[in-house]
Amino acid sequence: MNLRTVGVLTLWLGAVALALPAAAQQAELPSGAAHLKAPEPGWVERTEAIMGTRVYVQVYSPDTAKGNAAIDAVMADMRRIDDLMSHYKPESQLSQINARANREPVQVDKELFDLIKLSTHYSQITEGAFDITYASVGYLYDYPRHIHPTEQQIQQALPAVNWRNMLLDEAHHSVRFEHPGMRIDLGGIGKGYAVDRGVDILKARGIHHAVVTAGGDSRILGDHLGRPWLVAIRHPDDPSQVVTRIPLSDTAMSTSGDYERYFDENGVRYHHIIDPHTGHSASKVRSATVLAPTATQTDGMSKTAFVLGPDKALEIINRMPEYDAVFVCPDGRVVYSNGLRPPAARPADAPGGSTGTSPHAPP
Ligand code: ADP
Ligand code: MG
Repeated sequence: MNLRTVGVLTLWLGAVALALPAAAQQAELPSGAAHLKAPEPGWVERTEAIMGTRVYVQVYSPDTAKGNAAIDAVMADMRRIDDLMSHYKPESQLSQINARANREPVQVDKELFDLIKLSTHYSQITEGAFDITYASVGYLYDYPRHIHPTEQQIQQALPAVNWRNMLLDEAHHSVRFEHPGMRIDLGGIGKGYAVDRGVDILKARGIHHAVVTAGGDSRILGDHLGRPWLVAIRHPDDPSQVVTRIPLSDTAMSTSGDYERYFDENGVRYHHIIDPHTGHSASKVRSATVLAPTATQTDGMSKTAFVLGPDKALEIINRMPEYDAVFVCPDGRVVYSNGLRPPAARPADAPGGSTGTSPHAPP
């Protein structure tokens, strides 16, 4: 696609931005903005706060009532998933696991069991970089309150971090922890899963064109009526700057960034992606965007580069034909997987005037 022909009416959605093609004027809004510009005719949209994050759904439905009913159904399902899987809600089944699984097998709904089991698949292919038992140490961090554990606290908690010490009983849908002090948290895959369920709901209601976003996880259903959506990846330090733009349709994408939930103390950034091997925030990239057919897949893989570094993560991504990725490195380099051609250098008069469109330009 020739980027010169693409307009940049850009809607920031979590960590990435989606742009409607062929709009004349630039209208970028900061990440997390509560108010978005009205969608084009025939499109219906809504933003709600669910799962501790911003959920955004936009559907193409010239019948507005039908579009709104479809969005209602997606939002209701997101709330249902949150009630089942939130580690913040003491009554959730996931919290029941954390409360009792170190003493006895805890039986849960098949849906939750299956997602926990699936999370171990991502632990396997990421060589343990993705590990929902990271929470055994992760719970010691409180980003809004600027609290992080001491080294001694980390060393005490770290032996409980190991997905292989979760006993998953397929026949009973039960989970048992083999190590005391173990905890799990699905914050690294639950939103991607919820986005995929949202897309399933929209499809079942006859919607063919839509975007569903929860936090850093999005999925595009179809395209923007014959043209791709333009996804902009933001600069890690400046939400108004775009590192690169990728035209996409019928794809999921997840962006993880060290700028999403964090605080800085004495020159150290404490942020929400934790290296399961060290218990510290994982900082080998500043942001990672992963593309694949489903948001569960992209969510499960978007933390990898932070822990393993861009080279190792690209090696893994390049082995899997369904996946692509863009990483912004600490030194400003932008690296792409084999399947993503770096966008051609933008002419000086191109709309949107973004920086960092070459693979080695600083963001
Ligand atoms: P978002 O919540 O916006 O989708 P991410 O996809 O980057 O953001 O997920 C970050 C979340 O993943 C953290 O808040 C935490 O709940 C969880 N997490 C952090 N480190 C790990 C890890 N090593 N493995 C699995 N999950 C993790
Ligand atoms: Mg995510």
